[in-house]
Amino acid sequence: MLARFKIPLIALAAFAIGTLDPISMVFWKVAEWHLPTIKAESLADDSPFQGISEDRWVAQTDNAFVVNDINPQGPVHLLVIPKERYTSILDVPPAIRAEMIDLAVRMAREHGVDESGFRLVINTNPHGGQTVYHTHIHVIGGRQMGWLG
Ligand code: AMP
Repeated sequence: MLARFKIPLIALAAFAIGTLDPISMVFWKVAEWHLPTIKAESLADDSPFQGISEDRWVAQTDNAFVVNDINPQGPVHLLVIPKERYTSILDVPPAIRAEMIDLAVRMAREHGVDESGFRLVINTNPHGGQTVYHTHIHVIGGRQMGWLG
């Protein structure tokens, strides 16, 4: 009887803990104050991605390259970055956006997380949690993820 409801109960518990987690609530309150400032500072600065030397690129296409994230959130955490700086995904021409997604999917396959599962993330603007305003796709895999992390 209980077995029938096991998965919905686990999902409900995970949702409740995720929603009510006080540490996350404080973290996101602080982030809400800081993220608009981070946007202004990032836009005023050179892109940190443009300073990455080519020997750190793990793959590239005509218009995009891939590096390992310096603060990995999983065993696999790559960033697919357009060679030209676009502030956010909103500004990327459709053909380059498609090229970036293709490259991200290729990276998931080549890093062996396609079958186990992975996540493509494009944080956009302050409410999206973007901190580097040179758009990029996160490819994260190699561990179980919850709804937001
Ligand atoms: P976001 O918050 O979506 O804008 O993500 C920015 C990401 O860039 C974070 O995960 C950082 O760890 C990562 N990052 C920042 N600078 C570098 C760098 N020089 N090389 C690799 N990853 C970086």
